[in-house]
Amino acid sequence: MAESKRDYYEVLGVSRDADEATIKKAYRKVAKKYHPDMNPGDAEAEKKFKEASEAYAVLSDADKRRQYDQYGHAAFEGGAGGAGGFGGFDFNGADFSDIFGDMFGDLFGGGRRGGRASQGPMKGANIRKSVRITFEEAVFGCEKELDVVLKDSCPKCNGTGAKPGTSPETCSKCGGKGQVVYTQQSFFGTVQNVQTCPDCHGTGKIIREKCSGCGGTGYVSNRKKISVSIPAGIDNGQSVRIREKGEPGVNGGPRGDLLVEVVVSRHPIFQRQDMHIFSTVPISFAQAALGADVKIKTVDGDVIYTVKPGTKTGTKVRLKGKGVPSIRSASIRGDHYVTLVIQTPEHLSAEAKEALRKFDELSGNTLHTPESSEPKDSAKGGKKKKGFMDKVKEAFED
Ligand SMILES: [Zn+2]
Ligand SMILES: [Zn+2]
Repeated sequence: MAESKRDYYEVLGVSRDADEATIKKAYRKVAKKYHPDMNPGDAEAEKKFKEASEAYAVLSDADKRRQYDQYGHAAFEGGAGGAGGFGGFDFNGADFSDIFGDMFGDLFGGGRRGGRASQGPMKGANIRKSVRITFEEAVFGCEKELDVVLKDSCPKCNGTGAKPGTSPETCSKCGGKGQVVYTQQSFFGTVQNVQTCPDCHGTGKIIREKCSGCGGTGYVSNRKKISVSIPAGIDNGQSVRIREKGEPGVNGGPRGDLLVEVVVSRHPIFQRQDMHIFSTVPISFAQAALGADVKIKTVDGDVIYTVKPGTKTGTKVRLKGKGVPSIRSASIRGDHYVTLVIQTPEHLSAEAKEALRKFDELSGNTLHTPESSEPKDSAKGGKKKKGFMDKVKEAFED
């Protein structure tokens, strides 16, 4: 007892005029941090936990707090005697049940562990699945069939888990509550601890003879085909919720939901951003120079677009309403943006080459450099030009 004791207010980190609620809050914090359940085998944490509990026992009791304020630790020295190694303070008078009851119930999940028999109906857990669809299926919507393993109430025992003809008995250890309260005599007195009943694992029932259909669980798993309506306009990563196709509920609660995540495959020519579709369409130099009707692929099929004479490469064309429908309203559709890209001819016949040279001359160009075909600015050492698609993206981002 030579060990000097810390001031109770200091232990809880509260001021001397702290009110009851502040003291309780401070104790919760410290107790949570140093609780033996959270720090198994840590003697220092255990010491701190006891120290805080002792401080709380005194400061939460108006009489004891008054005595402590007046006389300090001396107020309790030699008091009850033999109560333990804590300066003789008599903790048997301290009531921990209220704080341990409401505090450790929610702190350590005691009340949430397992399915308590006393709990009301609870919704079952959700099940997650994913389904792969094509770009077009995402644009226009589709029906998919999924294989899902669903738990159902066992028909043999009607979900009780007990062998037909028998029924589950109320657990005698917890009286059907699913929880047991342990009363422990410890250093600082009587501590009540609520735990899930070890006999019935929180169900409140004991099954003597298990149902052979479900092994006592009350559930059987069935593989089922569930059709999913995927709405037009859905995007990669979005989910479709199918109500009550998840895990069964507890105590008569509704089933959970089935959440189907959609994975959209890449398209070879179309790219999507929200409700808009992007693609590039190659045109020849002659088409660009002279103008022409070109065929453009859209999700609605081919569209004939008239390229104006003198069209430059990188020209953007907007095909209104050829994009993706809004997932909320199929009548609202995004647009399809097409970038026209002039193709440089690579494999020319002698005749075509001659025609081009002639064309070039007629255009007023006289400096022919047929041997050095490398364009100068893309030679080594030159600043790397931005890729074509980078420019396209920039243009669309404005
Ligand atoms: Zn059964
Ligand atoms: Zn029990």
